[in-house]
Amino acid sequence: MELAPERKASVLIEALGYLRRFRHRFIVVKLGGSLVDNPQSLSQLLEDVIFLATAGVWPVVVHGGGKSIDRTSAAAGIVTKKVQGRRYTDPATMEIVARVLRNETNSWMVNEAKRLGGRAVGLHSAALQSLFGERLVLKEKGQIIDLGLVGQVTRVDVDLIRDFTSAGVIPVIPSLAYETATHDHSNPESGWLNINADTAAAAVAAQLGAEKLVLVTDTPGVLIDRKDTSTLQPSLSCERCRDLIATGIIEEGMIPKIEACLEALAAGVGKTHMIDGRLPHALLLEIFTRTGIGTEIVTEGESAAVPATSRVLKALPGKDLFGIKPV
Ligand SMILES: *Cc1c(COP(=O)(O)O)cnc(C)c1O
Repeated sequence: MELAPERKASVLIEALGYLRRFRHRFIVVKLGGSLVDNPQSLSQLLEDVIFLATAGVWPVVVHGGGKSIDRTSAAAGIVTKKVQGRRYTDPATMEIVARVLRNETNSWMVNEAKRLGGRAVGLHSAALQSLFGERLVLKEKGQIIDLGLVGQVTRVDVDLIRDFTSAGVIPVIPSLAYETATHDHSNPESGWLNINADTAAAAVAAQLGAEKLVLVTDTPGVLIDRKDTSTLQPSLSCERCRDLIATGIIEEGMIPKIEACLEALAAGVGKTHMIDGRLPHALLLEIFTRTGIGTEIVTEGESAAVPATSRVLKALPGKDLFGIKPV
């Protein structure tokens, strides 16, 4: 839909305040799930990221591998075993996860960003490694649960990331961490740990002291009734999120995402967001409009402090920004 010129100007002016606020501030964008298998959505989201970087904001992309990991594992005859919702990762699986994330997903995103006129760099080689970790230890009834090479991030190379963002280059980071202790110098492919992409993005946002963490998914945001998109929650406090988990309203795949947001907020990240990446330019709409399009999760008090004008806008039924439909 073509906007009238005066409407275009007001859209740009609405963005001005946000651009001023986010200039030289980190915004961590997690791209994952089935989006990674949708080149059209991914390409539009990368355009949004390029817009941010060009405007002097410091976006950092963290990504998972989508369905490609399942396909490649299945082709190699590996039976995927899930332990507490996590992919049990033996060395053969780890090799596939690392190969798909680095050589397929990450390379595609970096090349696509370049094709779209952006400057991007994949941070995952031995020389340009930004995430370091250790094995994740989960316990159930006092017993340690074996997850193989599943890890958690312990350190983020903030200086390395800032060197790139401050030069206008977009860091693109796969959800892998380097376990220095098990790295074998004669084998550059060794030492990787498999990290849940939401958790990895939250750790990156926390250690960067990011302004925002945006989890881009393939659902509209947090819904009270999963079958009814009019129950989308535009703004939730941490406390309300904990209530919704305790009462079973937020369930399954949404729980780790909410927990990643809560962790990032506890570590001082300004705001966290969950948005539907199937909507064209979802990221720009979320960051540069007063109502946003998905769910924001904010620290206690913040949510009540939403300016009166935004509250009115948020309260509008079926807030249908510019008539945008999923691609
Ligand atoms: C209110 C809201 C925003 C805008 O918040 P700002 O503080 O103006 O950035 C963005 N996204 C969602 C989902 C919102 O509910």
